[in-house]
Amino acid sequence: MAANGNEACGFANGESSVSSNGCSKDFAKSQPVLVNGSAPEPSSHSNVLQPERFTFSPEPTIEDIRRMQAEFTDERDWNKFHQPRNLLLAMVGEVGEVSELFQWRGEVAEGLPDWSESEREQLAHELSDVLIYLVELAEKCRVDLPQAVIRKMALNRLKYPASKVHGSAKKLRALIKGCFSAAPITPGSSVKGPTANEGADLLFRKTVVP
Ligand SMILES: [Mg+2]
Repeated sequence: MAANGNEACGFANGESSVSSNGCSKDFAKSQPVLVNGSAPEPSSHSNVLQPERFTFSPEPTIEDIRRMQAEFTDERDWNKFHQPRNLLLAMVGEVGEVSELFQWRGEVAEGLPDWSESEREQLAHELSDVLIYLVELAEKCRVDLPQAVIRKMALNRLKYPASKVHGSAKKLRALIKGCFSAAPITPGSSVKGPTANEGADLLFRKTVVP
């Protein structure tokens, strides 16, 4: 595995390509994301206008959220209750509260056009509860969440190359099935090649692990 963020992101050419949000500028440039609702800009790869995307405010950061929750629990002397297992269960409970808001509605369109302001605010509350517990759980488990996300996204890009899975919901393992078989390596040989699953694992390890 790569030792630094640039290599992990697949940009090992020595360029300083890390933007202020901690990710590769090249990666950020490839995302058709608009900042704070500004007018759509042409894609860097074509003159086609990309659809406007919702974006978050830059603050608070994840570290800000960790600090605010730490202050909240310190002020109430609740740290003695906030062990990792309790935090995990609390977070799962909050996920259930999010689920209740979607329950029995059928499919919900992006942007929630049919939801009232009150329902949207309730959703914002419950999603915030999930995030707050997630951040505190990561803190208590000593997981540096922002850096962990960068590492995991790099692994995801290696595991699911856009050229292989573009437009498909199938996982790469299923897509490359058939490239391998347990047939004899040479006719008449008793030595067999890898199965589809073994082949997928071999390919993944060869790709991800130097
Ligand atoms: Mg709640």
